[in-house]
Amino acid sequence: MDSKQFREAAKQLVDYICDYHDNIRDRDVLPAVQPYFLEKQMPGSAPENGEPWTSVFNDIEKLIMPGMTHWHSPRFHAYFPTASSYPAILADMLSGALGCVGFSWISSPICTELEMSMMDWLGKMLHLPSEFLFSSHGKGGGVIQEAASESTLICMLAARSRAITKYSSSSSPKNKSPLNKLVAYCSTQAHSSVEKAALLSAVKIRSLDPDTNLSLRGETLERAIKDDREKGLIPFFVAASLGTTNSCAFDNIIEIGQICQKEDIWLHIDAAYAGSAFICPEYRHYLNGVDKADSFNMNPHKWLLVNSDCSALWVKNLNLISDAFNVDPVYLKYDKQGQIHDFRHLQIALGRRFRSLKMWFVFRLYGLNGLQQFIRKHIRLASEFKMMLQTDPRFQIEQPVVLGLVTFRLKGSDELNKKYAKAINDRRKIHISPCSINGRYTLRFVVCSRHTELEDIKFSWNEFKTVADQFPMENGFANH
Ligand code: PLP
Repeated sequence: MDSKQFREAAKQLVDYICDYHDNIRDRDVLPAVQPYFLEKQMPGSAPENGEPWTSVFNDIEKLIMPGMTHWHSPRFHAYFPTASSYPAILADMLSGALGCVGFSWISSPICTELEMSMMDWLGKMLHLPSEFLFSSHGKGGGVIQEAASESTLICMLAARSRAITKYSSSSSPKNKSPLNKLVAYCSTQAHSSVEKAALLSAVKIRSLDPDTNLSLRGETLERAIKDDREKGLIPFFVAASLGTTNSCAFDNIIEIGQICQKEDIWLHIDAAYAGSAFICPEYRHYLNGVDKADSFNMNPHKWLLVNSDCSALWVKNLNLISDAFNVDPVYLKYDKQGQIHDFRHLQIALGRRFRSLKMWFVFRLYGLNGLQQFIRKHIRLASEFKMMLQTDPRFQIEQPVVLGLVTFRLKGSDELNKKYAKAINDRRKIHISPCSINGRYTLRFVVCSRHTELEDIKFSWNEFKTVADQFPMENGFANH
């Protein structure tokens, strides 16, 4: 493909992308395919000779779209949102075109420096303490990771390294290998990625019970730490959640932070979804206590209109990560090394894409006001859905609705709710995913798409009611 052909193909594809988004409501949100559907239709190997663009383009509708779950349909209400916006798509085009690999400053200085700048911009939108920002010229700063899971893992590995150094240097020979004594903590409501990070870090993890509001409290953590110290274990890491996946609950990071500081334990805050809302002054108070944290993470690629991947991780002392991960082969050395950050020391992979372009385009084209309006609209629409639920006695709302997530049940048994959720998803008009709250099977409704309007919420609500009509009263909810 030469540049002339590229221009034509790109224009055609841009038209296709716009039509896709403009007409996304015409497609069922879930595909009607079965596992291995593609195998039957795909040639078994790549073509010997290059094909014309038109035959690839035509296969998008034929082969790709039938297998798509349309995450940007306003009728997609599962999991949490994944962001998409035209400014971020444009930035991804440019990033692909520039195609640089920004592992060190010299490998593309702008790739490092724009990322530093964007992480500071976003940190300021969130009113993070200055210790987390590059502009304070201390040890802190932000780095884009691929995912919240990776951010937790990186911080846990850095905390592990810090703890090993600290406890290995103790005079007692018994303490020579503290790894098998290290213990991390989180709430039972924490995302599964915290448990996975502990598995990968080869450390113990204790999941602690939250209070009745599903918030992990300082007292519970303090008791667990005391118990574990008495058993000879070494508490070294706490992952607190702001906006849990199940119900968008908030751990009490003010209480937890005080304990972590007193006990010299790394506090990592996972606000993968909810973090975006903290750019609005009325939700910023959920972040109070972040000053006691060692690291804070939220995903602009979930709810801040920056297409995946873009997980923002701020660390108060970046040296703790680079010390844990530093390898320095000759082939990566350059003359100005050490004068500015090399992001390869702050992540697992060596290579990294020019992801900060997406933040730059999105932040400039929406502005803080535009981003705040977007967040507030989703929260308002979730509240509208909650009010619709409240008009129908067949449903009960499970947890307080704070942001864009509503947890609810059809009154009745877990079995009934499982069948109900399946029936909803089987129709493919809307898509929801379940969770477990206090051991009960619970339905989640999340406002996900940037296209969502009140009419879409009404459409989804109508779908919930229509399917509920197929579940007669005797199924149990009358007993509640
Ligand atoms: N933490 C929370 C609270 C989440 O809700 C999620 C995903 O939904 C994650 C972490 C994992 O996010 P990622 O896919 O970026 O690893």
